[in-house]
Amino acid sequence: MAQVRLNQVTRRFKETTAIADISFTVKDGEFWAIVGPSGCGKSTLLRIVAGLETATAGEIYIGDRCVTSVPARQRDVAMVFQNYALYPHMSVAENMAFGLRLQGMPKSDRRDRVNQVAKALNIEPLLERKPGQLSGGQQQRVALGRALARSPQVFLLDEPLSNLDAQLRDEIRGELKHLHQQFGITTLYVTHDQIEAMTLADQIVVLDGGHIQQIGSPQFIYQHPKNQMVATFLGSPPMNILAAQFKAGQLAVGAQPFSCPDAIRQAGLIDGQPVQIGIRPEHLRLCPKPGVGFQVSVAVVEPLGRELLVRTELLDKGKSSDPRRLNWIAPMAMTVEAGDRLTLTVDPDALFLFEADTGNRLYPGPLEN
Ligand code: ADP
Ligand code: MG
Repeated sequence: MAQVRLNQVTRRFKETTAIADISFTVKDGEFWAIVGPSGCGKSTLLRIVAGLETATAGEIYIGDRCVTSVPARQRDVAMVFQNYALYPHMSVAENMAFGLRLQGMPKSDRRDRVNQVAKALNIEPLLERKPGQLSGGQQQRVALGRALARSPQVFLLDEPLSNLDAQLRDEIRGELKHLHQQFGITTLYVTHDQIEAMTLADQIVVLDGGHIQQIGSPQFIYQHPKNQMVATFLGSPPMNILAAQFKAGQLAVGAQPFSCPDAIRQAGLIDGQPVQIGIRPEHLRLCPKPGVGFQVSVAVVEPLGRELLVRTELLDKGKSSDPRRLNWIAPMAMTVEAGDRLTLTVDPDALFLFEADTGNRLYPGPLEN
């Protein structure tokens, strides 16, 4: 096991910059997720750590060793992809032992190691089967097992659960976390799925357009997103964003003034400044008195089992280009139906403000980290 350090890593493909100036250190034994929308550079970053892709600039260290120009097979990393890519003519046991045989491990040790990993992954009964006789979930478990069996210093996973159905994804996600606790291998996990990133990782790197947006623990990033991209990417349903203007000490959403906490008045906004208000759906509340809050009409009510997702629209039309939707997570017992008109309010402590043109967070003030 080893730490992984990237220092100002950039990769360009002709005029496309896939990743730019990426620096971070994953400590020995930590589980990090790299998350971001499709095309943001996640796979490129992981492939550079694996040695399957070369960096245009910057260095990669595994442990104390600079591996920037070391070939993939000499880096002691194991990678698992979305497509399991098992050897079809070999049994599960042979697939799992393949890397060990190349390493020159004696046969009986190979068998012990394969059995140990198969047990951890619940695939012992499948060891004699061929990949063609396995379901997708079983094949992906074998692919994970093959990578783990080699006891690599670093474990790299690129969207390993994307091809699985929702229930299996949940199940294997839980197993992955358990495996990491058992084996403690330094892990980089790439996903576009923020829930996977949030649930699995010690630390999350949010990427967008090849640039790091924020690094932090799942909880920290969720509570203190640095900008609108991070705020809206993490969380499901995502944070609501409303265009507003700061005017005469008030925030106005369309023609609706919104009572502004003192802290926002003191946040140094300029009169007339356009801002984006961010509100998480779980922070909206039904307002008993009409008139103080957002006047909305209910478009759709979706029962989620434990709670209701109520999709609403602002009654105030505002500018036609402004987003007008407000999603509200309401208690399951709430009686509400499409067409209802309500007033929703939010605790000022739960508000975010972002700069309209850059998306940078204006409120709450400067980050602690
Ligand atoms: P992600 O995995 O986040 O979806 P990728 O790392 O695959 O993103 O791609 C990042 C960007 O780099 C994309 O714009 C993609 O088109 C580009 N890219 C990736 N690989 C190549 C390549 N071999 N040649 C040219 N462009 C590439
Ligand atoms: Mg990818």
